[in-house]
Amino acid sequence: MAPDSTAPTAPGAGWGGQCSGAAPGAAGSGDPRPGRISAVLFDFDGTLTVPDTLDFGAVRQAVGCPEGMGLLEFLAGVAGPEERRRKEAVLEAWEMEAAERTRENAGATRLVSTLHRLGVPLGIITRNTLVSIERSLAQMPGIDLGWFGVVITRDLPLSPKPFPDGVHYAAEHLGVEVAELLVVGDYRFDIEAGKRAGALAMYLHNDPAGPFHGDGADFVVRSLTEALTVIEPRLAPGIQT
Ligand SMILES: [Mg+2]
Repeated sequence: MAPDSTAPTAPGAGWGGQCSGAAPGAAGSGDPRPGRISAVLFDFDGTLTVPDTLDFGAVRQAVGCPEGMGLLEFLAGVAGPEERRRKEAVLEAWEMEAAERTRENAGATRLVSTLHRLGVPLGIITRNTLVSIERSLAQMPGIDLGWFGVVITRDLPLSPKPFPDGVHYAAEHLGVEVAELLVVGDYRFDIEAGKRAGALAMYLHNDPAGPFHGDGADFVVRSLTEALTVIEPRLAPGIQT
């Protein structure tokens, strides 16, 4: 089961291929890349929220999505607009139901509110819809949607992660150089999108006993609390207080 709601499932054992915490530049690895940070772009599901609120396997089965294929990619290829719309509605219904049950990931409020207070431009990048994000955030009273200068969902006409388009869009709308934008996520699509755009990428390995999806990340952390300790010292001058 993939940690991103619409991402393909892992095709087999060994996929990802790297042991937890072993990525170059991992926090505490002794090889930190300095990486000045002027803005932070968060993945949503499994990053700001607890992972696995949505039963992705059940959704895939409900719409007939084959193993190893992304749900959005599958839906985009469904022949016939009526059939496609019907299957999209199935996904959306599951997403909305999951949004009602979602909870914030440990440390999310502290991390996001601290960065907001410091004046760090913030964004969200997700393969979900805006309405499901709004409904999820209603369950997370410590985080205000208004703190995010850009919220990139599949409602926007941009190629979704792992394409880099949304990361470029975020950098432009947050008014920062993409090289100083940090993408934080719990799945390989987040890391791929960030690195393909030329941004910094932080992999959140929620479950160290689970599969590692952070190949290529500049930083690897095991919690959002640890993320704050990595981000704060790297904030661009003028942001740091
Ligand atoms: Mg995710």
